[in-house]
Amino acid sequence: MPTNKLTKILHLEAEKYQDRAVFGGLARYADTWIQEAQAAFGPEHADWIQEVTDRLRAYSSLPDPAVRQEAMGALLQLLKDAPHQPGSAGAGPPERAEEEKPFPVPHVAVEPRPSPVSPAPPDTGPVRTRTGLDSPVTVLQGVGSKQASRLTRLGIHTIHDMLYLFPRRYDDYSQLKPINRLEYGEDVTIIAQVWDAGVRQTRGKGTLFKAILSDGTSSIEVTWFNQPYLADKIKPGQHIVISGQVEEYLGRLCFTSPQWELLEQELLHTARLVPAYPLTEGISANWLRRLIKRTVDYWSKRLPDHLPASVRQEAGLMDLENALVQVHFPDDKDRLEQARHRLAFDELFVLQIGLLRQRHLWRSEPGKPLPVDDAILSNFVRSLPYELTSAQQRALAQIVSDLRTDQPMNRLLQGDVGSGKTVVAATAMALTVVAGAQAAMMAPTGVLAEQHYKTLTRLLSSASWTGSPPTVRLLTGNVTGQEREDIYAGLADGSIDIAVGTHALIQERVAFKQLALAVIDEQHRFGVRQRAVLQQKGYNPHLLVMTATPIPRSLELTVFGHLDVSIIDEMPPGRQPVVTRLILPTERERAYSFVHSQIEAGHQAFIIYPLVEESDKIEARAAVEEYERLQEHVFPGLRLGLLHGRMKADEKETTMARFAQGELDILVSTSVIEVGIDVPNATVILIEGANRFGLAQLHQFRGRVGRGEHPSYCLLVSDSGSSGAQERMKAVEATNDGFELAQKDLELRGPGEFLGTRQSGLPELKMANVTDLPLVEAARDAAHRFFETDPDLSNPDNRLLARQVAQLWEEEDEKEKEEEEEEGEGEGEGEGEGAIN
Ligand code: ADP
Ligand code: MG
Repeated sequence: MPTNKLTKILHLEAEKYQDRAVFGGLARYADTWIQEAQAAFGPEHADWIQEVTDRLRAYSSLPDPAVRQEAMGALLQLLKDAPHQPGSAGAGPPERAEEEKPFPVPHVAVEPRPSPVSPAPPDTGPVRTRTGLDSPVTVLQGVGSKQASRLTRLGIHTIHDMLYLFPRRYDDYSQLKPINRLEYGEDVTIIAQVWDAGVRQTRGKGTLFKAILSDGTSSIEVTWFNQPYLADKIKPGQHIVISGQVEEYLGRLCFTSPQWELLEQELLHTARLVPAYPLTEGISANWLRRLIKRTVDYWSKRLPDHLPASVRQEAGLMDLENALVQVHFPDDKDRLEQARHRLAFDELFVLQIGLLRQRHLWRSEPGKPLPVDDAILSNFVRSLPYELTSAQQRALAQIVSDLRTDQPMNRLLQGDVGSGKTVVAATAMALTVVAGAQAAMMAPTGVLAEQHYKTLTRLLSSASWTGSPPTVRLLTGNVTGQEREDIYAGLADGSIDIAVGTHALIQERVAFKQLALAVIDEQHRFGVRQRAVLQQKGYNPHLLVMTATPIPRSLELTVFGHLDVSIIDEMPPGRQPVVTRLILPTERERAYSFVHSQIEAGHQAFIIYPLVEESDKIEARAAVEEYERLQEHVFPGLRLGLLHGRMKADEKETTMARFAQGELDILVSTSVIEVGIDVPNATVILIEGANRFGLAQLHQFRGRVGRGEHPSYCLLVSDSGSSGAQERMKAVEATNDGFELAQKDLELRGPGEFLGTRQSGLPELKMANVTDLPLVEAARDAAHRFFETDPDLSNPDNRLLARQVAQLWEEEDEKEKEEEEEEGEGEGEGEGEGAIN
């Protein structure tokens, strides 16, 4: 249709207004136009045809782009008012003509297999009208069960999923150039006529299809390999659009297997920002792009906007329909940016509403206020072997005031390794017991639980702060038989005041008489669900979760947005910063003699090996071999111990205990050692394969030393010379500030890795970047303002939003459940092993 073609040309021209969209300018194209239009519309529309022709001729002589732009507006309007063409449904530009039909039969260009994609038109019968966004993709014409099952590999099951399959990137082919101005290496689009085209056999088994194209300024050769059927599509005389990178062959510029389309059709794969989707076997890029285009064209306007209009307006967001259209097929970079902004905002907004709801629900059921006695509190604090830092005091005061209210506490206690979180938690637990209730502390590994058990027993029993010291018991996977039964009984009848343990604490058989405070250490090792299970062991108990991974503000607002936060930002006095050195593998001998000298000075050392392989069996073997080598050849006179994830919990604990009591000089370990272990006499840690660990993790390792008053050292050996690895190691060398490293780690690895596999309950975000603090804050503020107007989301206007929130969080819940079921196999308690990887 001549109007389609002309409209296309005008749109291309409208990018720069340089009269370069066609060779010779629009004036020259007017000759072609008038002939084609007369043939198509017949003599009764001669006036209209002539008017378009005149304007085209005039266009080329207009003085500057601004004037041309004005003229262009009039021309496009004229084309929109095109007369009805005999024998055709409508004669407007294609975008408009097709708008009315749900899914136009596509122009099949590249693939041999025709794929007319179209859902049932909504007005063709009772069955078909039920097609909705949740319908399976098979309702789309051209998507059979085979393609549908392939699409599931991309996570696409429904039409809705397809709308939300975002491009991985965009190829920018929006730059249009005449052939004589092409430059080697650039991504560009040309419009040209086919002069000559033909298939040839190559020397191998393949074919090549070659076409010579010209746009009047020059000509260029284009080659496609092994697509002989192109001979039926690209024929001499046709106008086609080519997008791709300009290459060079034998000194001449050329294109090889570029994207191409006929000029008459709506341009999808060329001459624009072309979306590139994730692909999978059996799904070709062009096929998927066309399918998505039709899906977006038809369905985006049928997807109601779940974001309340007030929120949209206040935040100045694009509407949902436009955002979906623009994110898939952007008109330009600006609009793409706006679309991405809108969709990212959506995710964060819904996330924030979910967090607010969780908090609201918790708070709507009152907990048990604990009558904390000030005199007992100060007695207890005075009984401690050291004075609390002011940061510790501040955190403690916040916790105590929470405990006194009937709103269950939900607090995150954050503090760098060694900042002294344990004693703060211990104090809160002591106060709980004095107030007549029970407390529990859950740690991710048996080693750590044991350590806490000892610390608590010591802190709670040593002093004269109250009548009789509370009964504290340790419950790990290691505790079995009668002992375990006794603990169950003691917790149930209230004769045990405090339980310290691992996942063993959240087993079904564990029941408390009156659990009023649940503490979770190293919370990033646990899922939200596990946290919830422990909470459910009491009636709305107060919850304190602790983490040594400093949490950048943006994550604090997202992942932990439903918690109050206390920060211990001060180290106990007398700590010396750990001296960190990056050493070359060739300097290992020197490192060993340094370790030796520290031990001679009466101290102890850690030597850490990374997870070398996926399998912890192999990892364990590597650790065993290294351990033997070190013992026999490097440190023959010293006492070495070995710790790895394949050891039984009691073996691990025995080794740890021996190290803690100074019976071992060197502890050789895999990453099981990572969390929380406290041995103040250890002054040096040598980390092999340091490049394999995250920055935050390295900082955790480093925190194993420097816990006493002695100068301490951390030696990093990297087995990669890559500049990225070097840079990361240097960052650890350069600062002892865990917060700074966490921020950097988050930037380098992204939130998923940073937080560990569980992501601490953060729903999957497709578009939003949780490190984008301004956006996170904007979404959060908007969510807070909105939430006050309808905290239960019961207003019918907010029905769609409520559904989104439920979906986002339900999916997350399901995922975690599945994970736990997989994990649960064999391990029973899930204890210990969790710490390996
Ligand atoms: P983390 O915050 O990493 O869990 P811990 O609670 O294990 O740190 O404390 C680290 C070490 O610091 C422990 O040996 C503890 O006894 C000691 N400690 C904690 N608070 C103080 C303090 N106020 N003064 C001196 N030492 C302290
Ligand atoms: Mg700790």
